Amino acid sequence: MTNKSYDVVVIGAGVMGTSCAYHLVKKGFKVALIEKIDIARGTSSHCDAVALIVDKMPGVDAALGYASIQRFLELKNELSYDFELHQKGSMYACETDQEMDIASKYAKSMQDDGYDIDILNPKELLEHEPFMAKDLKGGIFSKACCGLNPFKLCFAFVDQVKGKGLDVYSYTDVKGIKLNDKNAVEGVETDKGFLSTKKVVNCAGVWSPEIGKMVGVDIPVKPRKGVILVSATSFPFCNQKVQEFGYMVSKFAEFKCKRDPDVEKYNVAFTIEPSKANNVLIGSSRNFAGYGVNTEIEIIHAIAKRAIRFYPILKEMNCIRSYAGVRPFLDAHLPLITDVDKVPGYYIATGHEGDGISLSPMTGRLISELIAGEKPYLDLAPFSYNRSKKNN
Ligand SMILES: Cc1cc2nc3c(=O)[nH]c(=O)nc-3n(C[C@H](O)[C@H](O)[C@H](O)COP(=O)(O)OP(=O)(O)OC[C@H]3O[C@@H](n4cnc5c(N)ncnc54)[C@H](O)[C@@H]3O)c2cc1C
Repeated sequence: MTNKSYDVVVIGAGVMGTSCAYHLVKKGFKVALIEKIDIARGTSSHCDAVALIVDKMPGVDAALGYASIQRFLELKNELSYDFELHQKGSMYACETDQEMDIASKYAKSMQDDGYDIDILNPKELLEHEPFMAKDLKGGIFSKACCGLNPFKLCFAFVDQVKGKGLDVYSYTDVKGIKLNDKNAVEGVETDKGFLSTKKVVNCAGVWSPEIGKMVGVDIPVKPRKGVILVSATSFPFCNQKVQEFGYMVSKFAEFKCKRDPDVEKYNVAFTIEPSKANNVLIGSSRNFAGYGVNTEIEIIHAIAKRAIRFYPILKEMNCIRSYAGVRPFLDAHLPLITDVDKVPGYYIATGHEGDGISLSPMTGRLISELIAGEKPYLDLAPFSYNRSKKNN
């Protein structure tokens, strides 16, 4: 690889890096994608598989989420490799009247912003999902939400442009970034050699702080772990992605309501999604426990207990495996999609926490527009490195 030169070097081949690389090649840039392991081997293969609107906060979060869903629908036709996109919608179920009250207010504020979200009474909830517990208080539903295969999405982005403007360097570890005397990017040092470039995009997910340190940029991303259980195959008893409204409580500090003690202890909230192979993925937890991806028996137990509460039929089913991933968390709950004034040529696309798959299409598009010097599709101020450092 030594002494090759690229318009842009993208670091990290998860969903962010592959989307950025794809969108940059589409703009005509010659791009290198560098990955220390292989495509989709970080958080983008240790996650669920949905692009939702019902888990976004009203405002810029929802705007980015909605624009990404629209972009997914375009990508379904644009990318040759099938990444199994489907639009079956998604639902939140409420266990208590207090949750139903908060969920209804949330749905109304999203409706006021023009999003298609229905408020469901208990009967309507069971019409959507007949196998759910009969004592739930109702829920909210949006038919705009999508599901997809996140591994295949990463491969689809790469497959479309590899060899046609994109070179992929797998098993290549970035060791440093060379700056010139004006503090601008000059190239990337790896364990396999040096690549010359004036532009670098840091898409290293939970490892992005390390790539930040290489140019003296502080990126306050923290790994926030989540555990998922996989059921044995069964008849299709669950029609769509379903979550308990407590998921919003576990994700955002803004939502406060009384929760089950196990839920509180491990910050667990029930989620379920059917896979194409008729397994269900059951989640999930949210805790700060370093970079490790082991799955603790107490958390598995708490997730299973919550799952049976919402789908009693799960008591009859076996769990065939569990896995965990680490979400790239930022206090601001909004990703960084940004350049950095003090290091010309250095860009960051990270901090998407539990929404990286969902937000990847627009993140890639916005980074490509920023690098091309075009007016971005959305205002980038809320995603800028210069936003209040306290909230980063
Ligand atoms: C349990 C769980 C469930 C989730 N469910 C969903 C969901 O349903 N929908 C959704 O939208 N999001 C979901 N997420 C979040 C989503 O998975 C992440 O936001 C997303 O995968 C982050 O992608 P990324 O490309 O930023 O990071 P990654 O996929 O981790 O990619 C970063 C890459 O950088 C590489 N790298 C690091 N350091 C270097 C280096 N020095 N040199 C070269 N390469 C390097 C790594 O090897 C890695 O491959 C979930 C996450 C978890 C944990």
